[in-house]
Amino acid sequence: MATEKAKHLKRISILGSTGSIGKNTLKVISRYPDRFRVVGIAAGSNIQVLESQILTYRPEVVAVFDEPAAARLRKKNLPVEILTGEKGLIEVATLKQADMIVSAIVGSAGLMPTFAAVKAGKDVALATKEALVMAGEMIMAEALKRGVKIIPVDSEHSAVFQCINGRVREEIQKIILTASGGPFLRKKLSELKKAAPEDALRHPNWFMGKKITIDSATLMNKGLEVIEAHHLFGMPVHKIDVVLHPQSIIHSMVEFIDGSVMAQMSVPDMKGPICYALSYPQRFKKVLPSLNMSKVRGLTFEKPDKKRYPCLGLAYEALKAGGTMPSVLNAANEVAVEAFLNKKIFFTEIYNIVALTMQKHKVSKCVNIDDALKASEWAKEKAKNLISKN
Ligand code: MG
Repeated sequence: MATEKAKHLKRISILGSTGSIGKNTLKVISRYPDRFRVVGIAAGSNIQVLESQILTYRPEVVAVFDEPAAARLRKKNLPVEILTGEKGLIEVATLKQADMIVSAIVGSAGLMPTFAAVKAGKDVALATKEALVMAGEMIMAEALKRGVKIIPVDSEHSAVFQCINGRVREEIQKIILTASGGPFLRKKLSELKKAAPEDALRHPNWFMGKKITIDSATLMNKGLEVIEAHHLFGMPVHKIDVVLHPQSIIHSMVEFIDGSVMAQMSVPDMKGPICYALSYPQRFKKVLPSLNMSKVRGLTFEKPDKKRYPCLGLAYEALKAGGTMPSVLNAANEVAVEAFLNKKIFFTEIYNIVALTMQKHKVSKCVNIDDALKASEWAKEKAKNLISKN
């Protein structure tokens, strides 16, 4: 019996354990203690949350990216080794005893640890979409070479993954990603410019981290997801559509060549896609509450307005340009979103900063991870300059 149990136990390392996805992953893991065990966790600098996670989940290895924070945590004399820096993150990403890595570090900082996990032959439950945006070709090629599964955690991609359910690419006509439209779906266009971070952070349906919530208000998040879908499912850009669906009940759809459309639905709760990525190909009982269709007042769809959401167009442009451009889009957006959160630029200037940075970039080929990282660093500098001249 003991060996039978051990056979079904999946050992998991979480990169980004103190963020929204990380915390939800730990909630899922605690619900199924005979199926999952945490062996490693890594975070940026939030050692307060990390300390309580260490005491609750007893991981074997812990990494804190920020060195001073790691030093403060070491002083607590917790019963675990505390690593630090990118090297520490990579160690957690490649832990020998881990069967699966949950990649949930926000932004470009998640690229190297995610790539290291794939290179080490670890299956990855992927939430850090930025890694695929920056270096999708290289990550997917490496995964193919090593027989690594990359299972999406992003709710839209989890939906597409579930709808495709093993069918071949040739049978897929298009992927339709749904977007809630964020908090500014009905706001007057003239009022968008002066929208405050507090307003943009009030997402109607999902509770998420700050960066992704702002990206949802600009629809850049959906743009990054278009690029993510292109890499994950090998679909060309013209076969990936975005439709606004304010109720967030349908998490995305797939149209097949015979005209049939499959949609995946559930209450909007990230524990659903997280658990599916961890338990795949199995489904576990009672992960989410039942979806009461008689209480869902209606499912509506509309085309995203280009004037309201110009960032979505930038993402399509970046994907069409290819090479280093998606990495530039992503980096400029990171810098612009941070500047907006710090009230250095207006909401509508996020678009301007990203667009200008892209205009100034000469696209080159992305042959290895370094090319993607260099383009990202270049774009961050350029975007910062543009903001300081603002
Ligand atoms: Mg999403």
